[in-house]
Amino acid sequence: MEIIIAEYAGFCGGVRRAYNMALQASQEDQSWYTLGPLVHNQAVVQDLRNRSITSVKDLDELDAGGVIIRSHGVRPQVISELNRKKLKFKDATCPLVKRVQELAQLLRGEGYEVVIFGDRDHPEVQGILGWCDNQALVVADINQAREMAAVKKLGVISQTTKNQEHYFEVIKELIHKADEVRSFNTICSASRKRQEAAIKVCRQVDLMIVIGDRTSSNTQTLVQECKNTGVKTILIQDVSDLNTGYLRGAQRVGITAGASTPDWIIKEVVNRMTHYDEGAPQEQNQEVNQDMEQDKVEETAQKTTEEIVQETAKETVQETTEETAQKTVEESNQETVEETAQKTVEESNQETMETFVKLEAEMADLAMPNRGDIVKGTVIQVLDDEVMVDVGGKSEGIIPLRELSNRKDIESADELVEVGQELEVLVLKWDDDGTILLSKKKVDNKKLMDQLEEDFKQGKVLDGTVVESVKGGLLVDVGVIGFLPASHVEDGYVKNLDDYVGKDFQFKIIEYNRHKKRGSQIVLSRKELVAEEKKRLKEQFWENVEEGQTIRGKIKRIVDYGAFIDLGGFEGLLHVSEIDHVRIDHPSSVLTEGEELDVYILALDRERERVSLSRKKLLKSPWEIVLEKYNEGDIIEGKVVRLAPFGAFVEIEPGVDGLVHISQLADYRVEKPEDVVSVGEIIKIKILSIDPERKRIGLSLKEAQEEEEDMEVQEYLEHQDEEEDF
Ligand code: SF4
Repeated sequence: MEIIIAEYAGFCGGVRRAYNMALQASQEDQSWYTLGPLVHNQAVVQDLRNRSITSVKDLDELDAGGVIIRSHGVRPQVISELNRKKLKFKDATCPLVKRVQELAQLLRGEGYEVVIFGDRDHPEVQGILGWCDNQALVVADINQAREMAAVKKLGVISQTTKNQEHYFEVIKELIHKADEVRSFNTICSASRKRQEAAIKVCRQVDLMIVIGDRTSSNTQTLVQECKNTGVKTILIQDVSDLNTGYLRGAQRVGITAGASTPDWIIKEVVNRMTHYDEGAPQEQNQEVNQDMEQDKVEETAQKTTEEIVQETAKETVQETTEETAQKTVEESNQETVEETAQKTVEESNQETMETFVKLEAEMADLAMPNRGDIVKGTVIQVLDDEVMVDVGGKSEGIIPLRELSNRKDIESADELVEVGQELEVLVLKWDDDGTILLSKKKVDNKKLMDQLEEDFKQGKVLDGTVVESVKGGLLVDVGVIGFLPASHVEDGYVKNLDDYVGKDFQFKIIEYNRHKKRGSQIVLSRKELVAEEKKRLKEQFWENVEEGQTIRGKIKRIVDYGAFIDLGGFEGLLHVSEIDHVRIDHPSSVLTEGEELDVYILALDRERERVSLSRKKLLKSPWEIVLEKYNEGDIIEGKVVRLAPFGAFVEIEPGVDGLVHISQLADYRVEKPEDVVSVGEIIKIKILSIDPERKRIGLSLKEAQEEEEDMEVQEYLEHQDEEEDF
């Protein structure tokens, strides 16, 4: 069995827009209602009910919550009542219907008797009536038009879903009823296209299935049009109505659907039909057919939203111009009527043309973006894990958190966007329920990659952060993650790449390939930048440096004979002999690599580019310390460092020793100093004399001990007095 789906079937643009607005409302934290069913389709109504959007008959039933005005539109009095009751509302009136309302208001305002071709009880007509003060005459067919009394000025409009041929017949009848007739072709091509596409399919099949709600007027029209072709036609509401008995014996089956039938119902029916097996060995063909037909449903769903409006405007204008003029004028026999008709039709065509040019512009806003399009949108809701974006008159899209940004540390979408913010987004796909899946991240990435390509071409310097050390190099975040080979990290060998992680540097792109599937699309280097910077600093150093200056530096390397100090662009040598006034065993006993210190520029050799440094020059000499710190008569501690026959040498500061003459070692005669003190012993000594010129310090152990004993006696006596007092 072959399945042929009509080129135009299912949701029209206006209904899809209303449905999407309802979906958006269902995300909001308040109750929403529709005034009457949103569309004439029970499945959609149930779907909305499941999303807590219920239908009410009258505003009297509501005191709170929000109201969605369906695509049929409402009377202006309803809007006033909504405002009076301070109820929030979303107006999903189809712009094509809105235009009819405006025309009704305009004609009434300019003194025309308004005639609406349509069904009086249809909600769209009820709404239009309200816009012309309920003063319009509604005619359902040519007979009612014929019965109308003559008037002076007549304005004619139509319910959007009526049959165009019938409308032209009505106009032809009404053109005799007034001195001046203005007519507007307000019929939407969505219905007509569905009818024409269905009739086309009817000619190729032996069974036609119309999917739609029995209460839907355009669905009923479709059924009637299909039946008129003579082909067997059945109406089903959804897949549950599909009796396989219908299909028995059918070789080719056609499918169409009313403008209020959602895509998912059409898909279910197509799926069921493609799995229907009469026992014919055509399983493989069925699978192929299924895929093809599903694709077609998807295409159709998109076409219904994108093409309807534009084609409506163009085709209707063309047809109105040609057909109305010909049919109305040619068939009019009376000369005066002919002239009037000609004039009226021309005016009418002009009006129609203007109307639809405007409509075309309005509806351009409603055009649904295609997969892969980059569109602008406004944030209308921000949840933790997704952002809802209005991307046009009838489309809302969702950006899941994962498609919002490359950043992994984001926990909630409100960290990045806010309601009202304008965004550029990429259309990823359409979901079955009409939601558009969007990505901001991909747009940002594309822009970033474009920018990086430009930066690469121009050799620009970029800021970035090293995020990870990997085999052979580092990963760097420059907006996207680029690779920095180990050989390009510095202008020399790098011992430990981990030291760079988490730090910010500047880079240049040395390789760019956005189409690369494996490995990094961007390869970075800082080698050249480092070398350039070093050169600049070196030149700056030699320009400014002078002997005798004190400069802050950083210990780069320690060697046995000293340390190399980075002076900010150039390295100087701090020889071991210039590290301190006192002798040191090894530079590392005083200095540490990485430590910062002040150094004195001892000598410069500009030719050989050598700098000799001194730390010692900036330190106080031991004798300066002694003079500052000690006075004659002080009793201090010192370390016996050497013994001689004439006495003992005692270190009182590093690099400064004093002499305790043998006569000052004790209050008795001492044969040898070692009889009293030993090397390494810490003793208390009294400073007898300080001679800075000869750099000699005279010390006495004997006097220090005597003074100490005197102090002890004195202390004992004072203590004894206190005890007696007590
Ligand atoms: S049928 Fe036409 S006028 Fe009616 S809602 Fe759909 S697009 Fe709008």
